[in-house]
Amino acid sequence: MTVCKTRAELRKIVEEAKKNGKSIGLVPTMGALHEGHGSLIAAARPENDLVIVSIFVNPTQFAPNEDLDAYPRTLDTDVALAESLGADIIFAPTAKEMYPSCDDTWVEVTGNITKVLCGKSRPTHFRGVTTVVTKLFLIACPDRAYFGQKDAQQVHIIRRMVKDLFFPLELRILPIIREHDGLAKSSRNVYLSPEERKAALVLSQSLSAAEEAVRGGERSGARLVDSVRAQIACEPMSNIEYVELHTLPDLTPVTEPLNGAYLLAVAVRFGTTRLIDNTVLEVF
Ligand code: AMP
Repeated sequence: MTVCKTRAELRKIVEEAKKNGKSIGLVPTMGALHEGHGSLIAAARPENDLVIVSIFVNPTQFAPNEDLDAYPRTLDTDVALAESLGADIIFAPTAKEMYPSCDDTWVEVTGNITKVLCGKSRPTHFRGVTTVVTKLFLIACPDRAYFGQKDAQQVHIIRRMVKDLFFPLELRILPIIREHDGLAKSSRNVYLSPEERKAALVLSQSLSAAEEAVRGGERSGARLVDSVRAQIACEPMSNIEYVELHTLPDLTPVTEPLNGAYLLAVAVRFGTTRLIDNTVLEVF
């Protein structure tokens, strides 16, 4: 396992791999790795000759009032986990390495897809994501890049960017990995107190109830959203940012009755910790 801190180090390895006809898989992360990240690394391993895991807490996707400084940084254990899952390279650059000059150049997907859901409360978040992912794609030149459905809006924005900018790579999207009781694994779960951790179960429970309602014949998007919102609101420790239902893949408003594939997504605070979760509803 090699840990690269600079673009130059990684470029050398990538160029050598390309020269020898080797395929490259890239797993972009912000570190504090858990089994969710692990599932992406495990998926990348058999599909690529070289598996690169990037670990970079990207400052441009955090607003000034967000948790950039507090975000967990656990490089040593991350390296051990990535290695145990068969990753070949960790790319862990500094912010200066990724943003050597002032931040005047952005890659931004505009339009509705970046305005709804997390884009409403975090208006500069996704341009930070698409900018850093572009930089990573240009440095690592992956044949395949691995992302989690946990960040569903991010997935659809990156998909759009890859299509519109003709990035010559394949996106692989992996399902949400959950704790045994349903809580979606997240690097931010460590912020939760035991009481908040318990309260946060309402997210996966309310989404499962919506899936069940659809299986039972519910075809009203408004009723589904209302019932998820009501269930979460019953939990006194919750503070709802959004409960939204959108069409896939463009995240446009739904028309009733439902007929097609939809993203039902929530963002809720428990104390100071903001959690997101989602499910895809296939309504036919
Ligand atoms: P992050 O380090 O939070 O930026 O996440 C890096 C990648 O891991 C993103 O593509 C996430 O969607 C993915 N990821 C994070 N949590 C999970 C999870 N619970 N299940 C599957 N993928 C995840």
